[in-house]
Amino acid sequence: MADTFDAVLIGAGHNTLAAALHLAAKGWRVGVFEQAATAGGAVKTGEYTLPGFRHDWAAMNLSLFAGSPFFKAYGGELARHGCEFVPVDRPFCSSFPDGEWAGVSTVGDETMDAFRALSPGDAAVWQELTSRFGAEAPHLFGLLGSEMKLRALAYFMFKTLRAKGMTGTLDMGRFLLSSPRAWLEETFAHPHIRALLGAWGMHLDFAPDVAGGAMFPYLEGMAGQAFGMVIGKGGADTIVKALVAAITARGGVVETGASVTRILREGGRATGIEMAGGRRITASRAVIAGTSPKGLRRLTGDTAPAFDRAMDSFRHAPGTMMIHLAMDGLPDWRAGTQLQRFAYVHLAPSLDQMARTYAQAQAGLLPDEPILVVGQPTAFDPSRAPEGKHTLWVQVRMAPGSIAGDAKGEIAARDWTQAAEPFADRALSILEAHAPGTRAKILGRRIVIPLELEADNPNLVGGDQVCGSHHLSQHFLFRPARGHADGSTPVANLHLTGAAVWPGAGTGAGPGYLLARKLAGK
Ligand SMILES: Cc1cc2nc3c(=O)[nH]c(=O)nc-3n(C[C@H](O)[C@H](O)[C@H](O)COP(=O)(O)OP(=O)(O)OC[C@H]3O[C@@H](n4cnc5c(N)ncnc54)[C@H](O)[C@@H]3O)c2cc1C
Repeated sequence: MADTFDAVLIGAGHNTLAAALHLAAKGWRVGVFEQAATAGGAVKTGEYTLPGFRHDWAAMNLSLFAGSPFFKAYGGELARHGCEFVPVDRPFCSSFPDGEWAGVSTVGDETMDAFRALSPGDAAVWQELTSRFGAEAPHLFGLLGSEMKLRALAYFMFKTLRAKGMTGTLDMGRFLLSSPRAWLEETFAHPHIRALLGAWGMHLDFAPDVAGGAMFPYLEGMAGQAFGMVIGKGGADTIVKALVAAITARGGVVETGASVTRILREGGRATGIEMAGGRRITASRAVIAGTSPKGLRRLTGDTAPAFDRAMDSFRHAPGTMMIHLAMDGLPDWRAGTQLQRFAYVHLAPSLDQMARTYAQAQAGLLPDEPILVVGQPTAFDPSRAPEGKHTLWVQVRMAPGSIAGDAKGEIAARDWTQAAEPFADRALSILEAHAPGTRAKILGRRIVIPLELEADNPNLVGGDQVCGSHHLSQHFLFRPARGHADGSTPVANLHLTGAAVWPGAGTGAGPGYLLARKLAGK
């Protein structure tokens, strides 16, 4: 195998793969080197419980990928390499302890009916918000898809001012700075509707009281209503398999089981990489690290003091525990059988409970009542399980990376290997309370503790599923650090990409695609 490339990319997360495909399409010879046995990073699928039951290891919801500028450019090519999605018309709902529920559905008037049953006033607000979304979306998505440079921001501000005037622009600025609770409480009256939407903040480290988080409940709610959700046919890895095939077809190389231990430099420029075992690969134009900031530091050693300090102090969010279940049937939700037809059922009963859970995890405590995201992929894609059977994808949010104690005072273990079973049991008891009889339907299960997520993919530090908090001090111009939101580093030819770089986590391929376009043109 040749050991010289135009660009060498470290890690085969979907961002580096997206970058590699764009560079290859521009004529660059690319080599991607991944330490794990399988490409994909946080986007992987496998039979983690029983034969015939396919589970998404981490990401399940591919809406960001399917709606991304990258997919717009390369969707046709990926489809030719087997990428296939399954549309979801009922993206998410919440089940509440009092037996009520609320959900967002693209089917007929279902959302309005569910909201009206709880609060006619909130239903009217929802209608108003959804009718304005078409006009708002270009501004917000424009911002999230834009390069994070002062010039690009100035252009964005100019366009927004022209379209919305000073008042509208200031209102939008206030909204972008708001916490989920501030926006939800001033917009909706019913606590269940606030909780239904507020749960989306928890996917991204935005507990209800964290400034800058209002955008996520809003965008996920509106996008869910307008477009539903998409998941991968047969598993989320459909995108990874297609990316790898497309890169290979363009002459690129994706090598797994290849742990990069050092970035090589000569005269202030990155010149290649070294792998465990000493093998060296040369990069003539770019070394692109799809790592966490701390992972980058391990590979570079010292670069420039301010940059190194910023990478060392990059903050991670609390972790996640995953529970994969092979099931004899879907849960019998107490709130009604209609909940079986939603992709995600959130068990996050109130903004106060979410705030408490987050504070506990931040303090290193196992939360007394973790938030659950119960994914029901086989409700839409039966190919993932044997006939008549199902899988559940249970995300347990928030969990501390290292355990200082138990907020409920029941679990004595401070070691994740011993705390895993009782904490998973706590999570499954919550599920059982919302859907009695679920435990009896479990045919097989696999618990993935935060440390196992990190062992599989070192970017998920402490099981942090977003590779770094998106709080305002680490977002926009500051992700991962001031002056480096475009992935640049103090070392010439060395670039950082992936979830730690603007626009951040999720499967939208934004960091990788923005970087590749910067390097090779549009
Ligand atoms: C449990 C969980 C659930 C999630 N759910 C969703 C969801 O439903 N929808 C969504 O949009 N997002 C979701 N996310 C977030 C999303 O999956 C990630 O933000 C995204 O996939 C990150 O992609 P990436 O390209 O930055 O790299 P990653 O996917 O983090 O991959 C990085 C790769 O680099 C490799 N690597 C690191 N260091 C080295 C080295 N030194 N040498 C070689 N290889 C190296 C790693 O092994 C890994 O394969 C979830 C994340 C997790 C963990």
